[in-house]
Amino acid sequence: MTWSIPIGRFGGTTVRLHITFLLFLVWIGAVYAARAGMRAAIDGVVLVLAVFACVVLHEFGHVLAARHYGVQTRDITLLPIGGVARMARIPEQPTQELVIALAGPAVNLVIAAILYGITRSVPHLSGAAFQDQGVGLVARLSSINLFLAVFNLIPAFPMDGGRALRALLTYRMAYAQATQVAASIGQGIAFVFGFLGLVGNPLLVFIALFVYLGAAAEAQGALFRQLAHGMIVSDVMTTHLQPVSPDSRIDDIVVTMVHLPQREFPVVDGQGKLCGLLTHAAILRAMHAGQTDAMAADIMMPDIPTLHSYQSVDDAMRLLEERQVPAVGVCDGQGRFMGLISQTNIGEIMTIHILRDKSRLPPARPALR
Ligand SMILES: [Zn+2]
Repeated sequence: MTWSIPIGRFGGTTVRLHITFLLFLVWIGAVYAARAGMRAAIDGVVLVLAVFACVVLHEFGHVLAARHYGVQTRDITLLPIGGVARMARIPEQPTQELVIALAGPAVNLVIAAILYGITRSVPHLSGAAFQDQGVGLVARLSSINLFLAVFNLIPAFPMDGGRALRALLTYRMAYAQATQVAASIGQGIAFVFGFLGLVGNPLLVFIALFVYLGAAAEAQGALFRQLAHGMIVSDVMTTHLQPVSPDSRIDDIVVTMVHLPQREFPVVDGQGKLCGLLTHAAILRAMHAGQTDAMAADIMMPDIPTLHSYQSVDDAMRLLEERQVPAVGVCDGQGRFMGLISQTNIGEIMTIHILRDKSRLPPARPALR
């Protein structure tokens, strides 16, 4: 987060540039300048910028398709390996996921077609198409867009093709199972890439690693979501928390903090209502600034979203994700504070469930005695 610079905001979505992307631009400029002089360096940098403009348009393809289904995208970050759009949630309805996944590559195909219309030079996928100085910049950009469409359609997470594959499988099986199958196919492809990379292009080894890790992360996320479907907030929340009142002094809270394993303090008023959350970081910051006589209400994080204890863990995960808060409050029917749910809570409970399920399964092979 801190390593990326916001460069603009379009329709509620912030576009960020990762610092490594700027380094990449400098590197491209330097390589071209050393190899073929200043003119080539400028051409190289202009081409990279044009490619990344196309990557942004690709990401906005996803963003607009997602918005069509009511899913907002907080930001898009540009890395040298491409763009990453952070959506508030991933729709589990296969048609929606399919449309959102395909909208990105579709944008590149449209750009390639428009550029072909301008240059009448047929885009193709050989490496020479991107580097050949004899071919104009626009024609090269057209070939690169064709490559971006094809590359993103590789059926492996975290590529769009992986999501499209899962969506297609979801028509036939449960979402989590479809994710497992799609992740396995993706990891198989990663191995092929890795092998081809070792004997040929080393860039493929890097892509293989990227795909392998992406598949593993996606599979785990889907497993979590599947487990979350069957649980309610009261199964997961942390109770036995020491609350503090809005007018508690930081000095006094610090004394309590030393004796408790608690990192976050719910700020609860006389009626038992949650007013905010006092984070460990906020307490340390106040102490560092010498505001030890400040009150909890002054430095707490207000507007903590709340849920009822009978709501699903799914809802809690969505709120944590959408509102970017460290924890969500849990209230009873009268709106009185009962406990907190954080990402750590959910992760811990999920791990326990997974381990418990594993121990129930028969051993894969007979145990040695
Ligand atoms: Zn994409």
